[in-house]
Amino acid sequence: AYLDRIAEVEGDVHAYLHTDREAALGQARAVDERIAAGEDPGPLAGVPVAHKDVFTTVDMPTTAASKILADWRPPYDATVTARLRQAGMVILGKTNMDEFAMGSSTENSAFQTTRNPWDLSRIPGGSSGGSSAAVAAFEAPLATGTDTGGSIRQPAAVCGLVGAKPTYGGSSRYGLIAFASSLDTPGPIARSVQDAALLHEAFSGHDPRDSTSVDAPVPPVVEAARRGDVAGLRIGVVRELDGEGYQAGVRQRFQETVELLESLGAKVVEVSCPSFDAALSAYYLIAPSECSSNLARFDAMRYGLRVGDDGTRSAEEVMSLTRAEGFGPEVKRRIILGTYALSSGYYDAYYGSAQQVRTLIKRDFDAAFENVDVLISPTTPTTAFPVGERTGDPMAMYLADLCTIPTNLAGNAALSVPCGLAPEDGLPVGLQIMAPVMADDRTYRVGAAVEA
Ligand code: GLN
Repeated sequence: AYLDRIAEVEGDVHAYLHTDREAALGQARAVDERIAAGEDPGPLAGVPVAHKDVFTTVDMPTTAASKILADWRPPYDATVTARLRQAGMVILGKTNMDEFAMGSSTENSAFQTTRNPWDLSRIPGGSSGGSSAAVAAFEAPLATGTDTGGSIRQPAAVCGLVGAKPTYGGSSRYGLIAFASSLDTPGPIARSVQDAALLHEAFSGHDPRDSTSVDAPVPPVVEAARRGDVAGLRIGVVRELDGEGYQAGVRQRFQETVELLESLGAKVVEVSCPSFDAALSAYYLIAPSECSSNLARFDAMRYGLRVGDDGTRSAEEVMSLTRAEGFGPEVKRRIILGTYALSSGYYDAYYGSAQQVRTLIKRDFDAAFENVDVLISPTTPTTAFPVGERTGDPMAMYLADLCTIPTNLAGNAALSVPCGLAPEDGLPVGLQIMAPVMADDRTYRVGAAVEA
């Protein structure tokens, strides 16, 4: 049914970079065979899934939506893809994204522009916009994404879906093409809180192949999603993210959700996290710095695109030509910014002070969580914006992640759940729920209460 749906609507949505009907049917038959042979087919046997094209897959290309990796076939599976195969899931395909996960609209893909199924003239969010569009268009029941600054929560919010950014280290980065290694976090995108929890649980947990993986039990997210009550829970509204200057309909739905949570028995208080005001600035130094280092590996020598290697040019010339042609403008902007911020003489002033801000943000969270169980805010300042509206203005694009970035810098857990449609445009609004490190279950518990 999902393959048929892809055939029907993909020409409008453009969510996938790669699909393979026969391969998917083959995987489904293999699940049937495991069942027929009396083997355990896994907890999600036969359930289809779409993977963001940043997770390596041995049987499909993996491009990170970059020309520099066009047609690259990885020699190994990411832990996330391997574990979901193990769980019995059938891979429908690889989804479009902003190149190397840098962006908030999926318009930075080198290959195509994905549309928001709610309104095809709008963006599906980003960078996991292919995954959110696929789930929203019923082209997949579940999808994986990655969240470095909001790239799961923001696309989930603007497509009316549930998206979770697990605790950093709670889900493995092995086989995830790196953007900013201290921030990158794989997570689920789904139509319901319960579905997201099932996917979250299936790929999470300790992985010895990722040195930052947390060696602790997976938080009980499925149980929390089933429970879904908030009576007696203390919920903090972050004053710095309470919606001043945000779209009116976003504020309205957020306020109504606060009232809903109170009516369900939660105690809602206002909490101040003063350093959050500097989060966006710190992120746009730290993320590009790490990206400039991580993307050095695309050197035209080891794998991927190679341009101008005609026997007359030096390795440096080939490298330079390849990177000039292989990377898109946003990726280049970040490499240049990051290289500058890390250069000697500027390191302390830029990268060093951004790291200090990062510590202050973590302290704000720690202080807040002494008094409340979870923090809430709108997920995004606006609903899905029109395709093309912000492509010429990087600052406007960066503002889409205003509310989501503090959690990445601190490494704790957060989830976005739909909380109604904005009256002025009829588009989905998301509520963000943030919890302490390894308390991901609390975000699911509150999310399930809001969803019901
Ligand atoms: N939009 C943010 C950026 O461009 C976040 C991206 C992400 O989470 N991968 O960096």
